[in-house]
Amino acid sequence: MLLLAVPAPAQEKLGKASLPKSDSSVECSLGAADLDALNGSTAELVLQNGKRVADITLVKFVRGPNKDTVRTVIYRKLKTKKSRSFRADSLSKIIVAQKTYDLVPSGTRKSRLLVDVAEKNKVVTARLKAGRHRLWPILSAKQQAEAVQEHKDFLETVRTAFPGLSLRLYETKFFLFFTDMPAAHIAGYVAQLDNMNVELGKQFGVPQGENIWRGKAVFIVFVNQASFVHFESKFMKLDRAATNRKHGICHQSGNGNVIVACFRGDDPRLFAQVLVHETTHGYLHRFKSSARIPSWLNEGIAEWVSAVVVRSSRVPQKRQQEAVLRLKQTGVIGQSFFEKKIEAWHYGVASKIIDSLIKANPRAFGSWIVSIKEGIDWSEGLRRTFGITPGQLIQAYGRSIGLPMIRLQ
Ligand SMILES: [Zn+2]
Repeated sequence: MLLLAVPAPAQEKLGKASLPKSDSSVECSLGAADLDALNGSTAELVLQNGKRVADITLVKFVRGPNKDTVRTVIYRKLKTKKSRSFRADSLSKIIVAQKTYDLVPSGTRKSRLLVDVAEKNKVVTARLKAGRHRLWPILSAKQQAEAVQEHKDFLETVRTAFPGLSLRLYETKFFLFFTDMPAAHIAGYVAQLDNMNVELGKQFGVPQGENIWRGKAVFIVFVNQASFVHFESKFMKLDRAATNRKHGICHQSGNGNVIVACFRGDDPRLFAQVLVHETTHGYLHRFKSSARIPSWLNEGIAEWVSAVVVRSSRVPQKRQQEAVLRLKQTGVIGQSFFEKKIEAWHYGVASKIIDSLIKANPRAFGSWIVSIKEGIDWSEGLRRTFGITPGQLIQAYGRSIGLPMIRLQ
């Protein structure tokens, strides 16, 4: 029962020129002279796929359309004469004398800018602090192991509250999966969890194999709804009436912990979709900083990822169609769409908008999410990356569903 299909790598489909060009300015990026100054330095390269190439000499940076953008990195292995190269868009980091430079997309295709990570972190930390957020600290191997042990201790307490259930713990590279589902039923899910993590990372430019979680992400999956509701009320102090209407909940703590609790129910496809949806919320919580991705965007991304990963579930597509039917009659999305918590029927609107933006320009989309996590207001980030306002975004959505006249309110 393999429900979590691994999608093909995201394709660079630059949509028709319906969206204006993005703003190519990037904070703390190196200028042309700074790039030249790195020639001849000993360095280590970190590839997008997580591999590392150490002990190399940087020969030169082949430039893109601007002199401060890099298209290709030419290097030599130490004590060898032969030049080799990497495309800048296949690299994630360059480390020179313990200084790390990230390769971030510039406004133009295929070329990258080098960003001084330490400088950038200073700027971002200050901005996040003003909004009472912070970059997630990088944990040592020991701290990670301690966090995993903390999660396991918590799961043992959960076990004592369910003496009638035979709860088992399955551990993978990135996840702790605690469940009373029969072993034969969960093999497919557990086998695909780490792949799902890699796919999520790809969407946000996280190098393959990098663990963004505090310890690991924790899943508590019950067969029955009653156990799920009991767990939520006993351990998360959530109101039973509120939990009764939910299939799964992603608990995101200020210390960085992520616990996804849910129940299987009778529809395995819906269950897989809920699992991926909730995990995406957890991933967005742990990605870079504690800054919040707004509700509509958070739900839209969670729906989009679950549609890509769980291809057998048509739930996100159905919600998109239902939203269109409703808008045909009312023509109004409602002010609450851009507010603290979107309404249930808004999920179909949000996921369709996200779908269009990613199709139009996946790199700009990634940069937009990064900018929000770096403390930039989402609408300002939208302007910088896609060059449009929230109002224009709604208009573009209306046109895409054949209802150009729809309004926010
Ligand atoms: Zn959600």
